[in-house]
Amino acid sequence: MLMWYQVRQVKGLELTVLGCHAPYAPADGACNGYLLQAGGVNIMLDCGNGSFAVLQKHLDFRKLHALIISHYHPDHFHDYHCVRHAIGGSIRDGSRQNPLLVYAPGAETGPWNEMAKWQDEFILIPIEEYQRVPASLGDLVFHFQKNKHPKDCFSMNFIEGNAKFVYTSDTSWYGPLVEFAWGADFLLCEASLRNADMALSEEKGHLTAGQAGRLAAKAEVKHLMLTHLWPEFPPYVLLREAQSVFAGKVSLATTGLKISI
Ligand SMILES: [Zn+2]
Ligand SMILES: [Zn+2]
Repeated sequence: MLMWYQVRQVKGLELTVLGCHAPYAPADGACNGYLLQAGGVNIMLDCGNGSFAVLQKHLDFRKLHALIISHYHPDHFHDYHCVRHAIGGSIRDGSRQNPLLVYAPGAETGPWNEMAKWQDEFILIPIEEYQRVPASLGDLVFHFQKNKHPKDCFSMNFIEGNAKFVYTSDTSWYGPLVEFAWGADFLLCEASLRNADMALSEEKGHLTAGQAGRLAAKAEVKHLMLTHLWPEFPPYVLLREAQSVFAGKVSLATTGLKISI
């Protein structure tokens, strides 16, 4: 007879890359957005420009349970208008019952106040409440941690059964990120800069590909995927820089890619 925890062990997490470019998308791409399917729920992580269109190739948006917005930079949240109108239309025509749960930074008032008016479509939850206390949806448990970035921006980790997935969103290097990502089966880490751009890291609040590799090595993760890619940078350069400091598996995000964690 299977015990409940044995069933949970084999479920894992499924991630689909909806967009992985920043601060703009190339011709066939989109800005940051990811579909996480785990614990019986469908969650969109960030909704940068163009990502909601790509989501619809992979999931009927009526089946979304939640949207998590890491921060209010356009390459992470600008499709919120699209999400709002799609959810609103489906509630009006009866094809969806409930507003969408939206986790977002609550201390920065601009977009938060705008979304607060969309009560027919969104149920807003401030991310700040779940930095030490875990949030949960279905069988999925998740936490947030505040990054070093010009806007209030949060890393997030998700645990389902024995599987751990970490998405950094945007940040420059800071020590506690290592503990937050510790032992992850899969680390989706921004690599906005090349090692040659190191001088910009602190100023812009981003990591180089080498720093992403260093984070993966220090946190002893199993698989590092580089994302938040500047469209003009040769991918092989970023890959090589991360691989030079991390001996585990390294790959590059591409639009439409699916990963089982
Ligand atoms: Zn940002
Ligand atoms: Zn960004």
